[in-house]
Amino acid sequence: MSKEQRVALVTGSSSGIGAAVARRLAAAGVRVVVNSANSVEAGEKLAADLPDAVYVRANVADEADAKRLVQAAVDTYGRLDILVNNAGITRFIDHGDFEAASPEVWREINEVNVIAAWQTTVAAIEHLKADGGGSVVNVSSQAGIYANGSSIPYAVSKAALNHMTRLLAKQLGPVGVRVNAVAPGLIDTPWYNGLEGMDKAMEEVAERLPMRRVGTAEDIAEAVCDLANASYITGEVLLVDGGGHLL
Ligand code: NAD
Repeated sequence: MSKEQRVALVTGSSSGIGAAVARRLAAAGVRVVVNSANSVEAGEKLAADLPDAVYVRANVADEADAKRLVQAAVDTYGRLDILVNNAGITRFIDHGDFEAASPEVWREINEVNVIAAWQTTVAAIEHLKADGGGSVVNVSSQAGIYANGSSIPYAVSKAALNHMTRLLAKQLGPVGVRVNAVAPGLIDTPWYNGLEGMDKAMEEVAERLPMRRVGTAEDIAEAVCDLANASYITGEVLLVDGGGHLL
């Protein structure tokens, strides 16, 4: 199969980073399955705007839905080359507020940020390893590397995703499937919609960052696509944070 005929599934691609990944892959000639659990209209519009894409509504935290989503990609295009596990959620909870980070919050966040990535990848393996090998890119966070982030359950979920990336890379390398992750710093997306004081906070972060700006969804999409294409990189967690880790 030629590169032009590759197929990608991008979870949580109705907005923000996932949408930018879908657009960038499509611009490179990849056929794309756009997905979200909600925001159906935005997902359908994005798919309609791309040259060759379909939208599939599915909640990747639900195992049957994750399987159905992967099957829909294969049924539509006959193959699957790239899986981007981008769907994610958080709760903004002060790290000292232990009561607010309840077991319910832990379960909710980990079901999407960890278990969904696991079950979507597992459902995709047999398809990714066909046709000469495929690639998984997980969208993680710098909060999974450093002791910060929107809440402790969120940061821990991304640390788990980073380790899952390495463990799966070790298992899937022999069958020709690479597994990597991108760990974004602060990225200006709808993730922060409605969060009070966020515009000012972004300005303050930008002033301190070595690159003097917060990231864009396109910055992350670039790194995701680079890792999806890199033939000899696996098990890598790539920080894309404008130099934030240097502070
Ligand atoms: P966003 O809110 O714009 O996008 C999140 C997407 O995930 C949406 O399309 C949403 O519909 C989808 N989604 C959520 N739960 C889902 C589910 N159960 N099934 C299917 N889709 C689901 O935010 P974003 O900033 O683009 O976030 C994308 C990823 O980037 C997340 O994994 C997030 O943790 C990560 N991230 C974001 C930042 C940032 O600063 N924005 C920083 C680090 C990491």
